[in-house]
Amino acid sequence: MFRTNAERGTIAVKKEVYGVSESGAPLYYFPSAKKCSHLIIAGIHGEEPETTFLLSRTLRFFYDSLDHVAFILCANPDGMALGTRGNQRGVDLNRNFPTSNWNKEDVYSRLTLESPRETLLSPGNEPLSEKETIALVSIIKELQPSSILSMHSPMACIDTPFRTKDVVSLEKIFQIPWVSSIGYETPGSLGTWCIENNMECITLELPRIALEAMETNYAVSFAHWISSR
Ligand SMILES: [Zn+2]
Repeated sequence: MFRTNAERGTIAVKKEVYGVSESGAPLYYFPSAKKCSHLIIAGIHGEEPETTFLLSRTLRFFYDSLDHVAFILCANPDGMALGTRGNQRGVDLNRNFPTSNWNKEDVYSRLTLESPRETLLSPGNEPLSEKETIALVSIIKELQPSSILSMHSPMACIDTPFRTKDVVSLEKIFQIPWVSSIGYETPGSLGTWCIENNMECITLELPRIALEAMETNYAVSFAHWISSR
């Protein structure tokens, strides 16, 4: 049973703080009521606010904490406030995880899907150099989910090594295809860190559509998908 539109102006699920950002902003998470099996993370890239928007709109369907699903609506609040992909220190948090392939070279990204990959960001001075990644790794280790859904945009695909039943249902909801690789190296990424720590990580790259359309096209079916975990 979901909250009505009239009730969905606010979030009813109770939140806790798992750390603070470089600027001192609280890092919020919404814990599960029982053992966490799934953790859904949005807003690790501050230039992808649609991930936070959609996850917030979806979370507002629920009257209370879900039994097994926990949520992080915004893993990079400073980047979101500044509108930058990286955090306040200019670090791409999704290249700052302690993986065997972490690389100190600056990482390339692109300003739009049509742009060349020529925009440089730091992966940090070393793995886990950033407060936001330290806190994120620590809360993941505490919650020990078996699966993480990491939300990004706007590449319109579901990137994970295996096309599981969950992946097939996400393909249907978002009308986007599964890919076994994003097509370029992502040293120090959350996805790689999960693989190296025996955790499933599904990277959900939302398509390039307006926020309003996110609500209309996805929120209800995503809420059903989440509540059936
Ligand atoms: Zn991203």
